[in-house]
Amino acid sequence: MSSGLSVKVTPKKKIEIERLVYFRQKKSFAYMLEKGRPASINALDLFEFNLKREYGFEADVRDLPSDCEGLTDFSTNELVLSVASHAQLGNNEPRGIFTVCHELGHIDMHKSDMSHCHLSRVKGRQLYRRRGDIKAFECSEWQADYYSGSLQMPYMQVVDILEQGGDEGDLQRIFNVSFTAARKRVGYVNSLRKG
Ligand SMILES: [Zn+2]
Repeated sequence: MSSGLSVKVTPKKKIEIERLVYFRQKKSFAYMLEKGRPASINALDLFEFNLKREYGFEADVRDLPSDCEGLTDFSTNELVLSVASHAQLGNNEPRGIFTVCHELGHIDMHKSDMSHCHLSRVKGRQLYRRRGDIKAFECSEWQADYYSGSLQMPYMQVVDILEQGGDEGDLQRIFNVSFTAARKRVGYVNSLRKG
């Protein structure tokens, strides 16, 4: 097993990832797009029952290195969660949900760039900041994190919430995400609306 942290991948703009995520939501998570009825993603259901049907990948749970929360293996088409991440997912904790959605981002975006096993989400390290030659928009981890936030908080639902005076706290509650994830999402959505 080789790990592929912070792989330099085909550059993607935020708007490109938004578009890709939108088509994914329409196909696999249509319940999240109902106007005026924002809903959190059912990541546990996807992981346990529908991953093969929706993404063509098998789900597995394994003992991974203690600092690794998940991995995507393109050689075997497996999405693997650590035991700890799987427990977080079972408890509906934002961190476990974010990890699953991050790996889904690799599956949807990085097959051609990552032909091997990719360890993800190494705790406490800003991996993509350590490599000066990789810019955020061409970094596998930045892209997967962006995908994760976008998948969990659909663009139009966030726009509606913000236009009605909602804020990060509302996103956190409605979509069951961390405050940090909600804050980043507000920043990204606002930058796209103004840009
Ligand atoms: Zn990753």
